[in-house]
Amino acid sequence: MTSYDTVGIDDLPIRDELRGKSPYGAPQLDVPVQLNTNENPYPLPEPLVRRIAERVAEAARGLNRYPDRDAIELRTELARYLTRTGKHPVALRNVWAANGSNEVLQQLLQTFGGPGRTAMGFEPSYSMHALIARGTGTGWISGPRNDDFTIDVEAAERAIAEHRPDVVFITSPNNPTGTAVEAETVLALHEAAQAAKPSLVVIDEAYVEFSHRDSLLPLIEGRPNLVVSRTMSKAFGAAGLRLGYLAAHPAVVDAVQLVRLPYHLSAVTQATALAALEHTDTLLGYVEQLKAERDRLVSELRAIGYEVTESDANFVQFGHFDGAEGSHAAWQKILDRGVLVRDNGVPGWLRVTAGTPEENDAFLDAVRALKKEQSS
Ligand SMILES: *Cc1c(COP(=O)(O)O)cnc(C)c1O
Repeated sequence: MTSYDTVGIDDLPIRDELRGKSPYGAPQLDVPVQLNTNENPYPLPEPLVRRIAERVAEAARGLNRYPDRDAIELRTELARYLTRTGKHPVALRNVWAANGSNEVLQQLLQTFGGPGRTAMGFEPSYSMHALIARGTGTGWISGPRNDDFTIDVEAAERAIAEHRPDVVFITSPNNPTGTAVEAETVLALHEAAQAAKPSLVVIDEAYVEFSHRDSLLPLIEGRPNLVVSRTMSKAFGAAGLRLGYLAAHPAVVDAVQLVRLPYHLSAVTQATALAALEHTDTLLGYVEQLKAERDRLVSELRAIGYEVTESDANFVQFGHFDGAEGSHAAWQKILDRGVLVRDNGVPGWLRVTAGTPEENDAFLDAVRALKKEQSS
C-alpha cells in the first residue's frame, strides 16, 4: 500500500508564490439555511428547466463537433440584454463570454497583466481579484478605502500615480461590503490610470442588477481601456451554469482571444445560457423580490441594533463585532443556530446573503438571539 500522506503540495516543484497557500472557497457546510455565497435562493422555474433540456438535447446531437468557438449567438443575446437593461447600446463585437466572470477576469489578466506587471484593487473587495493576479503571475497592490468602505478617491488617485498598475479593478457594487461606486469616481480613477500608464480599468459589476443605481456600462463609450464584467451567477440565479461576460471596445474583445483556450465555452454551456436568456423577464422578477428582502434585512438589522453598510447588492454587511475574533465568534454562534453566513475576514464584520423570506426570518431570529445574549 502506498501512503499518500508523506508528500504534500509544498514537496512538489510548484511555483514559489504558490507555496504555503490555500485554495479559495467558502465552507460548503450542510446546514438548513445557507446564506454565505451570494447565490440566488430560488431554483430555476420549471418552464426554464424544460427549455434548457430542449436546447441541451439539440446541442447534444452535435457534440461530435467542437462548439462555436466565437459563441456568436450567445454573445448576440448577451449584447441584446445589456442594451435593454444597461441604458447603452452594445453589439456582438463589444461582448465576450467565458466560464464564469472569474474566467473573464483571468483572461483579462493573462492579456493585460502577467509577469513584470501589476494589478490594483481597493480592499476589502472581491478576494478572487488578488488570487487571479497571483495565478497569472501578476503583482498585486492593495489600494485604500474610507472607514465607511467607499473608495477614498484622492488616496486612490495617489496610489495609482505612485504604483502605476497595469490593471485597476473597481467592484461596483462591491463584495463583501455592498457599496456602489459613483460614475464620477470611476471616471477620476480611469483618468488617473491613463495618466500613469495607461492601464486597463475593469469594473466588476457582478451584482449590478440588484443596485439602486444604473449600470456603469455607458462609461465604455469612447474609452477603449475601460471594461465592464458581468455574470449570470447572481441575478440570473445560475451560479451552477458558469457563465460570465464582458462589454468593452471591440479591440478588448479581440485582445482576449489571444489567450482564450480554443472552444473554451462548451456547446452545452452555450445552449443552457441561451435558454436562460429567453427567460430574462421571469428571472429579473426574482431580482425585484430579492431587492425588497435585502432592504428588509437592512432595516431589521438596524432595528435589532446592528450597524449595517449601505448595500446595492443581494447581500448585507453587518456588525460591528469586536475585531476579527468577535466576528468569527459571532459567525460560529449564528452557525450553531443553523444559519451559515460569511466571515470574509473583514475584522468586525460579517456578510449575509438575501435568501427567501423564510431563510431571512431564520437569520434574523438567530442574530436577534445573539444580540440578546451579548447585551445580557
Ligand atoms: C460572485 C462574484 C463574481 C462571479 O463569479 P462567477 O465566476 O461569474 O461565478 C465576480 N465578481 C464578484 C465581485 C463576485 O462577487
